[in-house]
Amino acid sequence: MTKTSELIWHNGEMIPYEQATTHILSHAIHYGSSVFEGIRAYDTPKGPAIFRLKDHIKRLYDSAKIYRIEIPFTEDELMQACKDAVKANGFTNAYLRPFAFLGNVGLGVHPKSHKADVSVAAMEWGTYLGDGSLEAGVDACISSWTRLAPNTMPTGAKAGGNYLSSQLITAEAKRHGYVEGIALDVNGYLSEGAGENLFVIKNGVLFTPPTTACILPGLTRDTIMKLARERGYEVREESIAREALYLADEFFMTGTAAEVTPVRSVDQIQIGDGKRGPITAQLQQAYFDLVKGQSEDSNGWLDYINE
Ligand code: PMP
Repeated sequence: MTKTSELIWHNGEMIPYEQATTHILSHAIHYGSSVFEGIRAYDTPKGPAIFRLKDHIKRLYDSAKIYRIEIPFTEDELMQACKDAVKANGFTNAYLRPFAFLGNVGLGVHPKSHKADVSVAAMEWGTYLGDGSLEAGVDACISSWTRLAPNTMPTGAKAGGNYLSSQLITAEAKRHGYVEGIALDVNGYLSEGAGENLFVIKNGVLFTPPTTACILPGLTRDTIMKLARERGYEVREESIAREALYLADEFFMTGTAAEVTPVRSVDQIQIGDGKRGPITAQLQQAYFDLVKGQSEDSNGWLDYINE
């Protein structure tokens, strides 16, 4: 393990990185029975702040509810744990990974108990899709792997097991020299990237796949929809055909890790001018101004560490 921080919050205590281990017979390792979040903290003029902490923690509990995983802490306690993990490690910018997993609950597929072990790790994490990707954009491809079908494994839950699908999608893309893979849903419409939601722009209108396209409804997606509408853009959640992507004026991906990343080509077809488009640039700027406390936080989305 590459050491990413000094301290990790684990089951209510802040413990040294080296001690934050689990047994090889943990249920989650064998069957993917974990739920997690990815959250970012940014340095702001008022010190580090975590973006949409409450919403992320709420989604963690929602994911747990679907799998009947019991988190033996309150949402407030886990929000505090996230703040403590940033503070204890002295980070100003950080990526946070709260997660709840089934550990010592027997090795049968059906666990003897649904009570989870819970941890929050904080780490420094730069630009997810590579240096310069936020400015230059990335090259992506459509994956040969279809995203999970409805009523198979719920994509609305951010569960460890779902990321086997994401690993197939992203590994295939990288093997072929692309930065990221984009999955279609079972009906052949655009779904999402391995770890990102999608926004296609055509004639000044933003289109994003609906939740019925087997996506994780991202919080960055939600933030961008609000920022775009506030700036007078029409945003439509509707099915998007693969060819509409090739013919888009602009295309970008969103995610806590990926932030707002322009895509300059898909399957070696240039998108628009082959560089970050003007609406993408505007929304990207609005996003960074918001998360870095440079613009008004009218939704109260910034949770300051030092308050
Ligand atoms: N889809 C998938 C599969 C993801 O892993 C992520 C990253 N959490 C997203 C979409 C984007 O979600 P968010 O904006 O909440 O990070």
